[in-house]
Amino acid sequence: MALLQISEPGQSAAPHQHRLAAGIDLGTTNSLIATVQSAVPRALPDENGAMLLPSVVRYLADGDIVVGRAAQVAQADDPHNTIVSVKRFMGRSLSDVKEAAALPYHFTDGPGMISISTVAGARSPVQVSADILSNLRRRAEDSLGGPLSGVVITVPAYFDDAQRQATKDAARLANVTVLRLLNEPTAAAIAYGLDKAAEGTFAIYDLGGGTFDISILSLTRGVFEVLSTGGDSALGGDDFDSAIAAWFCSQHAIAGLEALAPRLQRSLLAAARSAKEALSSHETADMRLDGINGHALTATLTRAQFAELGAPLIARTITAARRALRDARLSTAQITGVVLVGGSTRMPIARDAVRDFFGMEPLADLDPDQVVAIGAALQANILVG
Ligand code: AMP
Repeated sequence: MALLQISEPGQSAAPHQHRLAAGIDLGTTNSLIATVQSAVPRALPDENGAMLLPSVVRYLADGDIVVGRAAQVAQADDPHNTIVSVKRFMGRSLSDVKEAAALPYHFTDGPGMISISTVAGARSPVQVSADILSNLRRRAEDSLGGPLSGVVITVPAYFDDAQRQATKDAARLANVTVLRLLNEPTAAAIAYGLDKAAEGTFAIYDLGGGTFDISILSLTRGVFEVLSTGGDSALGGDDFDSAIAAWFCSQHAIAGLEALAPRLQRSLLAAARSAKEALSSHETADMRLDGINGHALTATLTRAQFAELGAPLIARTITAARRALRDARLSTAQITGVVLVGGSTRMPIARDAVRDFFGMEPLADLDPDQVVAIGAALQANILVG
């Protein structure tokens, strides 16, 4: 464990001076930062009130660096210089990145790690991640009114040493003192206070926008151990959007999403995502696609229809959960708690499947997008005393 140097000898902090600590969820799609104030953990918003910072960085020729929503918006127009999902490349060499040819980037194999050529020069995943971390650090310091003493950064439980080291290097570049790297599923368990129990065995079901992770943790005398991990790095909310888009096409005798112009594809996927999210709180959702030969196409999707469309995708998550349990040599009866993480666990079909499989109500009171950052903030708060 990295120890935090709180103060130099002779420069001891005033007795009542707060040491500011935070938890950072450095995610593939979105990142966020949380802190504990007056014993209450909370995610910190940006100046527009948004908690989630899209993990997107755009490099401009004049040296400017744009991070977050504004970079995401420019992605379609400037794909070579707008880096998304950089977490996939952390600690990886070119030969590790199977999908490299399908991505819009100009990769070079840097020493020890892949690099991406941009108008501002070559950028390593560590540098891109550092730009995301710097943005979050500034957000926290503006909001808390002082420099951060240290942060806990979360990483996937399956991250290897190279990926963990790359995350620490990014923090150093961003002038962020790492108190500890914490496994994401462990952070989720801490957010729900599961570490307060003496013992237990927990499943953390994390369905995000593009990835699915399942982890089995055991807690012994206050210490979590990862017993097994599993999942699918190409399964997430986006796939449900695609399934809805394909259904919409079939309703209008369109051969498929690929048969539409790129602009219409984007519009239809956005409409599909809105419909999917609406169905988490409504029984039906209306969809509309403007601009097909001057006409608008519409359709109404019901919860039952969506359940049918999503069933094969949900089944894949349960298959992965079953495998993770088997790897940990456990049965569902031995699981004492299940935690939901990730925006896609707002879908009732995901919650129902988890409840049916594990035979218990999953923990879902906290915002599933914030659970990991909140757990990291609680841990950071303890580490700075
Ligand atoms: P976000 O939480 O915005 O990163 O989104 C991650 C994934 O969660 C995306 O695929 C979203 O569409 C999905 N998501 C967010 N909110 C909801 C919701 N209310 N119902 C279903 N999916 C959601």
